[in-house]
Amino acid sequence: MQKKVTKIGVLTSGGDAPGMNACIRAVVRTGLYHDLEVFGIIRGYSGMIEDDIIPMNSRSVANIIQRGGTILKTARCPEFMTPEGRKKAYNNLKKRGINGLIIIGGDGSFRGAQIFSHEYDIPCIGIPGTIDKDIAGTDFTIGFDTAVNTAIDAIDKIRDTADAHDRLFIIEVMGRDAGYIALHSGISTGAEHILIPERKTDMESLLRSLHEKEKRQKLVNLVVVAEGDDFGGGNEVAKTIKERMPNVDMRVVILGHIQRGGSPTCLDRLLASRMGYSAVECLIEGRNNVMVGIMNNKMHYTPLDNAVKAKQKISDEWMKIVKILAS
Ligand code: ADP
Repeated sequence: MQKKVTKIGVLTSGGDAPGMNACIRAVVRTGLYHDLEVFGIIRGYSGMIEDDIIPMNSRSVANIIQRGGTILKTARCPEFMTPEGRKKAYNNLKKRGINGLIIIGGDGSFRGAQIFSHEYDIPCIGIPGTIDKDIAGTDFTIGFDTAVNTAIDAIDKIRDTADAHDRLFIIEVMGRDAGYIALHSGISTGAEHILIPERKTDMESLLRSLHEKEKRQKLVNLVVVAEGDDFGGGNEVAKTIKERMPNVDMRVVILGHIQRGGSPTCLDRLLASRMGYSAVECLIEGRNNVMVGIMNNKMHYTPLDNAVKAKQKISDEWMKIVKILAS
């Protein structure tokens, strides 16, 4: 028989994502509603190991729903990958009586949670907080919508100047292993080409298409490249184009960390609120080792073991749409 959850800890771990604060708020207030004690763990798994853990009340999460970043801070913590590190973390939770854990983070953070919940008697619930949207078992992850809208805003501005000068722009967006930001922002801004890690980049075909568009005098050309594209990112793509088309008027823009910041969109605030609420309910119901997601607008629970293994797949139809609409 599972023990009743009375004291819960919440942490944000790995890469930060807009909407994490809205999620912390939802966890804290739902926990308090159910008369649980809620603790905030600072800097992800590092705070668990270093005993940087603070009690949270309703006021601790006032005025944060609209703020990017995370009030709990986040970190990457190599020590948590060792059994000794996890033991220290467990002892710190145990001495406070924390008997439920909510981890807001990406697949790396879930891998940590999965191992921890197998080793120790503290149930763990994961909430997908990552701008990359590279997690199976949920249609969206917290932060993706904000990041993609930030990218769209920037690319629209680039299109204005590209149009004024008839220039080719290579725009690199975030996405180490996943091309969702590139794909969604590229389609939404009418980019001619979108290069993503999930598809092998065919540079010859890209060059042929640029030549052909040059002949037709289609002069605004936007190429959106995910940072993790197999060709090596925006600078590498531009270098090869310049070698093969020396007269092309081209600029490279790396959007970088602006995609991580800013006030979360309505969608991200809603996801964060629903998932935060649901994660607390999961702990109360006695669930363990699951990720809370939303699919087809309904709550969906995936064992953490599956969430870290499976990736969302990009369908060929999306790539076809890119090609047809950019002609
Ligand atoms: P994200 O959660 O954004 O994917 P990371 O991959 O950096 O970010 O993972 C965040 C943290 O999760 C790591 O710094 C580490 O503390 C923990 N973690 C990741 N993989 C493991 C693992 N295999 N075992 C234990 N902890 C892990």
